[in-house]
Amino acid sequence: MNPVQTEVENAEFLALVKAAREQVTFLKELGVEGAEKQSPHASLKTAPATRRAAETAASVIPQHEVGTSANSSDTLFGDLSSPPVRIQKSSETFEEIWADVGNCTRCPLHQGRTNIVHTDGNRKARLMFVGEAPGADEDLQARPFVGRAGQLLTKIIEAIGLKREEVLIGNVNRCRPPANRPPTPEEAAMCKPFLRREIAAVQPEIIVVLGNTAMKNLLDLKQGITRVRGQFQDYQGVKVMPTFHPAYLLREPVKKKETWEDIKKVRDYLDSTKKQES
Ligand code: URA
Repeated sequence: MNPVQTEVENAEFLALVKAAREQVTFLKELGVEGAEKQSPHASLKTAPATRRAAETAASVIPQHEVGTSANSSDTLFGDLSSPPVRIQKSSETFEEIWADVGNCTRCPLHQGRTNIVHTDGNRKARLMFVGEAPGADEDLQARPFVGRAGQLLTKIIEAIGLKREEVLIGNVNRCRPPANRPPTPEEAAMCKPFLRREIAAVQPEIIVVLGNTAMKNLLDLKQGITRVRGQFQDYQGVKVMPTFHPAYLLREPVKKKETWEDIKKVRDYLDSTKKQES
């Protein structure tokens, strides 16, 4: 066999094994039972790096996964050739923005709150997560995503090699809706401008919108999260990755695999732009 061809095939095979390993690690960390058995990783571990093994791997790993390591950045991250005009960076501090929020009574949600839950984390973050609105734990602790869904979000962040403190985490609404219902469009419209101002102040490279409410409030889209997840969108020049909300993943653990696919695209984009910087 042509040695160059063999080398290319071996490299492809190793990339497939790496992707499979990562997926097992992610699923295990997120508590998916029997991830190792379900995954091609178990059989690939001992298989020789031959063409036949590579073909086996290719047949059991979904094509979009293969694409993650093999495709050009063009298909992975949308069109990078003509970067869109980015939002004007604002020099506002979070303290200034929060002073404007004040002891807010702009919408009815203030009636049931214990605390206003402001955006939390690294104000120089490259990556931001945006959720819907605080739940009971967040309302008590005045921090976003600290309950069960928040713990899962922390695992998702760590699965791509980041610490929670390195990213920024916020919500469309800052007060807890009764019985954790989604905020109404009117309630969201009152609160959203503060989130937008924070985004302009930080200018993250990517925003991950968690679930339908966050996605629809940041992006002008008709389709729901199930259709749009995993596809990079644009918010005023900032890449946006829609994915499932961690609270939904707690109810539907089988969807964690799709979230992992989405989150890997985020990690790969951050890696690619880091390389461009250095
Ligand atoms: N769900 C959200 O959308 N945000 C939180 O902060 C907690 C749970």
